[in-house]
Amino acid sequence: MTVLFPALQSATTKEALRFGDRTLTYADLALVAGALAHRLRRLDHDRPRVAIWATASLETSVATVAALLAGVPAVPINPKAGERELAHIVSDSTPALVLAPPGTDLPSELHRVAREDVSIEGGAGDLPPEVESETPALIVYTSGTTGPPKGVVLPRRAIASTLDALEDAWQWTADDVLVHALPLFHVHGLILAILGPLRRGGTVHHIGRFSTQQIARELTGEATMMFGVPTMYHRIASEVATDHTLANALRDARLLVSGSAALPMRDHQLITEATGQQVVERYGMTETLMNTSVRADGPRKPGTVGPPLRGVELRLIDEDGNTVELGDTETVGEIQVRGPNLFTGYLNRPDATAEAFDGDWFRTGDMATRDTDGYVRIVGRKATDLIKSGGYKIGAGEIENALLEHPGVAEVAVTGEPDPDLGERIVAWVVPSDEPAVKETELVDHVAKLLSPHKRPRAVRFLGALPRNHMGKVMKRALDT
Ligand code: ATP
Ligand code: MG
Repeated sequence: MTVLFPALQSATTKEALRFGDRTLTYADLALVAGALAHRLRRLDHDRPRVAIWATASLETSVATVAALLAGVPAVPINPKAGERELAHIVSDSTPALVLAPPGTDLPSELHRVAREDVSIEGGAGDLPPEVESETPALIVYTSGTTGPPKGVVLPRRAIASTLDALEDAWQWTADDVLVHALPLFHVHGLILAILGPLRRGGTVHHIGRFSTQQIARELTGEATMMFGVPTMYHRIASEVATDHTLANALRDARLLVSGSAALPMRDHQLITEATGQQVVERYGMTETLMNTSVRADGPRKPGTVGPPLRGVELRLIDEDGNTVELGDTETVGEIQVRGPNLFTGYLNRPDATAEAFDGDWFRTGDMATRDTDGYVRIVGRKATDLIKSGGYKIGAGEIENALLEHPGVAEVAVTGEPDPDLGERIVAWVVPSDEPAVKETELVDHVAKLLSPHKRPRAVRFLGALPRNHMGKVMKRALDT
């Protein structure tokens, strides 16, 4: 049995959740989520899954906690999902009920699913009895960066163990107040940033839409930690040198955490120069929850995602199937992990589940090197970021970081394209900055000089914006011509 939220049992008047000007204490949360949990436990259905219309709201948080208390698997749904994605998720996960904030206009794909409005008024009664650890708790769909989203079945055991490993790595306590601006239908925004503080007995302030002013206000006030995606830190990095309120607020933060994609070196540097803070990167996936993180009490090594978290075993497997030795920073291998943080399988996809494992090791599809301290440096995804050109294996991230050092480059994504001579040729997709227009040859020479000639882009394509998904991740498959 895993007690997920010990703080709900003591039900104090401490603030648990704040969304804008609406708040719930632990006592409120125990009442409303407890009451809803009892109703969910009475669901008469052979597969009583519930969908959650996951707006960034108190209702979504209450619904998730209620489903977890009830032991009924919950599927958070992106309220902005397009028709096709929504139809896929609904037919794949077959929810018996959809939980939504009162007054929500649900799309037609959900009209045939029974509905219950999540009320955050009163309710009474004890919390339901605890649920067995391997019971599926959440079914979370992947971000869809490399293909259609897959439903990932996460047991309670995985959620508890990942949150406790982060407590250890980040020295996370009940006194921490987290400022939150992420969506609530993925691991980062829901499991780490809502369930994490609730498991610790701490507090979350969700500010709605991300803005650097609001982040500054929160961190100047009660907030001690921020979790964000690289696009948020990029905004901060571009404003922090001239915005002293923002710089001071960040300087006072206990911990700034970035994840979901790589944080470019230039953003790391700009933030450190202006605030003295070093952003902590952690690395995880929907399937594995968190695997590694830079520790609050250890060396930061910007550009790495830190060592494996407590309880997580990690190995790198090279192209020939051999394990890369610890400290061999020259050899790139695929990250494979095992531990109590892993999912149980993809929903309705035994084929994909089987393919994703090598025995009990999960193949992440991410490529990396590791130093002697076990700090992992991610090179990129095997499928899209590892370019095989002229007999070399080249990581897109290294070239992206180099290009970002050029003042003419605002944003960049590097891909490989088929080439008759080289196998693949390096292509840079560049969003130019406001500086006077930069020439292709200048960027090519810049990379050749900074890295080495074989890493220079063979083509530079300028565009107004990079295609990104709702987590700010670059959808490289949309860049192929
Ligand atoms: P899909 O699996 O549907 O293509 P996705 O892999 O983006 O989408 P998620 O499970 O949300 O879906 O994201 C996990 C991936 O995000 C990891 O496999 C890794 O490539 C990337 N990632 C997460 N954190 C980091 C980080 N700190 N640095 C670099 N990459 C990261
Ligand atoms: Mg993935």
